[in-house]
Amino acid sequence: MKEQLSKLIQLQKIDSEIARLKARKVSLPGEQEQLRVGIAAAEGRFDERKKELEDLNERHRACEKEMQKGSESLKRSKSRLLEVKKNDEYQATLKEIDTIERKNSAVEDEIINLLEEIDRRNTDLAADREHLETVRKQGEEKLRLLEKDAESIDAELESIVAGEREIRDGLDPDVLRRYDLLRERRNGSAVVPVWNEVCSGCHMNIPPQLYIELRKYEKLHICPNCNRIMYWENRADEH
Ligand SMILES: [Zn+2]
Repeated sequence: MKEQLSKLIQLQKIDSEIARLKARKVSLPGEQEQLRVGIAAAEGRFDERKKELEDLNERHRACEKEMQKGSESLKRSKSRLLEVKKNDEYQATLKEIDTIERKNSAVEDEIINLLEEIDRRNTDLAADREHLETVRKQGEEKLRLLEKDAESIDAELESIVAGEREIRDGLDPDVLRRYDLLRERRNGSAVVPVWNEVCSGCHMNIPPQLYIELRKYEKLHICPNCNRIMYWENRADEH
């Protein structure tokens, strides 16, 4: 029975590993997709900020043109002022000059504000670019690792399944049937270690007498609480 028990322990470890690998295989595409979405989102945010800065630059260029036109029309009005003879015409031109000057001054203010904003955004964008590069680099590195994982899982599963078959062949059919039934009913864990009188399957205490029996390793013992096959695991050895 000692040999059967040790084979059962091995089988449980292998089956748990197979379950882990299969779950990993299922979750990998989602993880990869999440990374891709994360990178694309960072790129999207950066492009948006870049576009905003381009718009500001565009607005700045338009203001400069307006400013140029404004100063030309101011020049024209001022030279007309020297030519007009009648007083009402003179007053009208003065008023015109005043209007142009006000407008020019407003455009000038906007240019100053725009330049400050552009300056600030340029600094921010440089930091954003650096951040994006980091996100991209780290994301792509993780993607490469996940890709490698995905490639190796099938080969790993194949070799583990071969080992599983070998162990199954060496087990008593009755023991194996019990194991499979338990595994199905107990969410994949049929054989569990016990240490310090506590079953690691259900976390309940087992009777002291049973614990003593368990340490002898002589027959298959079943947890009185969760019905799993138990074995004594000396965790005091782990340091
Ligand atoms: Zn138990």
